Amino acid sequence: MAEFWKPGSEKPRILEDEEGGVLFFSSPYSSSSSGFGYSSIEKQRQRLPVFKYRTAILYLVENHATTIVVGETGSGKTTQIPQYLKEAGWAEGGRVIACTQPRRLAVQSVASRVAEEMGVKLGEEVGYTIRFENLTNPGVTMIKFLTDGVLLREMMDDPLLTKYSVIMVDEAHERSLSTDILLGLLKKIQRRRPELRLIISSATIEAKSMSSFFSSSRKRQQDTGEDCVPRTLPAILSVEGRGFNVQIHYLEEPAPDYLQAAVSTVLAIHDEEPIGDILVFLTGQDDIDAAAQLLTENAQNRGRHSSGLIVLPLYSGLSRADQDLVFSPTPKGKRKVVLSTNIAETSLTLEGVVYVVDSGFSKQRFYNPISDIESLVVAPISKASARQRAGRAGRVRPGKCYRLYTEEYFVKEMAAEGIPEMQRSNLVSCVIQLKALGVDNILGFDWLASPAPEAMIRALEVLYSLGILDDDAKLTSPTGFQVAEIPLDPMISKMILSANALGCSEEIITIAAILSIQSIWVSGRGAQKELDEVKLRFAVAEGDHVTYLNVYKGFLHSGKSSQWCHKNFINYHAMKKVVEIREQLRKLAQRLGLAIKSCEGDTQVVRKAVTAGFFTHACRLEAFSQGGMYKTIRSSQEVYIHPSSILFRVNPKWVIYYSLISTDRHYMRNVIAIDPSWLLEAAPNFYQQQKPNQAAHGLI
Ligand code: ADP
Ligand code: MG
Repeated sequence: MAEFWKPGSEKPRILEDEEGGVLFFSSPYSSSSSGFGYSSIEKQRQRLPVFKYRTAILYLVENHATTIVVGETGSGKTTQIPQYLKEAGWAEGGRVIACTQPRRLAVQSVASRVAEEMGVKLGEEVGYTIRFENLTNPGVTMIKFLTDGVLLREMMDDPLLTKYSVIMVDEAHERSLSTDILLGLLKKIQRRRPELRLIISSATIEAKSMSSFFSSSRKRQQDTGEDCVPRTLPAILSVEGRGFNVQIHYLEEPAPDYLQAAVSTVLAIHDEEPIGDILVFLTGQDDIDAAAQLLTENAQNRGRHSSGLIVLPLYSGLSRADQDLVFSPTPKGKRKVVLSTNIAETSLTLEGVVYVVDSGFSKQRFYNPISDIESLVVAPISKASARQRAGRAGRVRPGKCYRLYTEEYFVKEMAAEGIPEMQRSNLVSCVIQLKALGVDNILGFDWLASPAPEAMIRALEVLYSLGILDDDAKLTSPTGFQVAEIPLDPMISKMILSANALGCSEEIITIAAILSIQSIWVSGRGAQKELDEVKLRFAVAEGDHVTYLNVYKGFLHSGKSSQWCHKNFINYHAMKKVVEIREQLRKLAQRLGLAIKSCEGDTQVVRKAVTAGFFTHACRLEAFSQGGMYKTIRSSQEVYIHPSSILFRVNPKWVIYYSLISTDRHYMRNVIAIDPSWLLEAAPNFYQQQKPNQAAHGLI
């Protein structure tokens, strides 16, 4: 057996350097291992770079309230550290070790890997929780993976998160909105629970700024040498990676279409380069499906040359079987091409990748508090991201990274770092969550990165109009508290609550479930015409939301048949998920005391309920030119109906959208036609708040 440090024994040999108020830990403490009697999985575990630091990590966690672990992707942070903690006894006495991830797919994948390594059934000793899916067994589960959003929700029932002994906040460099809120709240909890240990881990981190965040506003304790009192000074441990050299290739000229460029690059690699898997970074499901189709078609046309290419997508919402394919070893003589969102940038490691193709883009959320527009934008990544992406090619041997942009662009134009999500998001959900957790002075909250005051004011204004906050900016009862309890966007939650009064919660719950899925249609370039024709079978003039009700009805009628889905270009896997989520929402609605009633085809009440939640997204048709130009009522921003909408080219005078996606223009996705009088009905103070000359919004 390897000798591991145990609490109470002599501490390992470490170098300490208290420079700048930060405790550095530098040299690895290698542990001996006798090397017999281990299964192959155990050997694999020991080969990971993080294994050399096992003793050090356990020592630091024992002695420091907060430990920051920085280590390259694939070094074993996520899968190994929770196991080390469990082996050292942190899960004894009914306590649980938590490890958070910003992404749901990563939670599932990592939990399943750790269960496999430990030889246990997923959902028992090792479990996971994501929104609408809880695979844990209270009393049995010792290591629990969860999204940072879910951990925030758990705080509503258990504000001090008492069941956890150690909370590892993973992928902190991503600076997701929930990670940032979580870190602020965990810092508060630490003061009340000195026995709680935090591990903050990430691939690239401004370790010092994270460290000063956790050491600020506290009296520094003297090191008394007693092991029972954790030191409040965070420790930083850096795990040496063992990445191989990666050769970077740039384009000579900028590519007009990154998708096309990605496809040709993959084919060129396949033709010219020795065997080894290819990882392609694209932006989202639409892109990935389109690229997959182009690659498959190309392979068919070229016949023998391109055979041996296995094309696999990787994005959230993928079925478990499809996820497993991505991780399964590449068959001999074949080459895997994984088309991924930036989930493969740091959250997941794919073993056999030797070539990386980097589009230079990712889908990012941007919010402009002045125009009050939040949209998903395909935006350039940062240099830090580009380096991470390239690093994925050097996992097993020296690799190559093909950047689909010029070197000049990389050097001169790419931003060094990304902007934390906190500073580019609509803060409605964030405010409501903090309010529900009793943080009243939101502006005075201990932010890792302060949000823009304009964004905060906008959020308070909207929540007030939704009837969620009262004049004193406190949650209203029952609406505010109910909305906080529903794990969905507050506007969706408000729509569900309004449906109760309007007698259409059956329908609205279905709509809420479908909107929480990326898309229920099977997408892909080439099949667009057929897809459009099929959509007409379900289409109604009222818009996408009502059309979805028809799809759902059809799905139930077919006996939830996969063949029916296939025939109708509907994603069977997505529909199964809809049924599951709908069931969860129905239970939740019942728990909140809502009556589950159907309006029996009265689409007007359905649309009124949508309006009650989404009145801030109302738009009016201004011109038929350019395919129908709309302006938002709120801030007169130009928006257009997305081609994927049933109402594309129908152009009703008044519409409400669910979300915006921005490319060359702001496009509204999931659009419903409304009557403007419903806006005043739904949110009198919101529309009356406007200055008199703005009230000529067309409402009066
Ligand atoms: P880090 O968190 O430091 O990026 P991980 O703990 O995620 O590293 O990964 C450690 C190792 O475990 C990697 O070699 C990775 O390939 C492997 N691994 C992780 N998840 C899976 C999985 N689902 N299937 C197979 N191997 C996996
Ligand atoms: Mg990880």
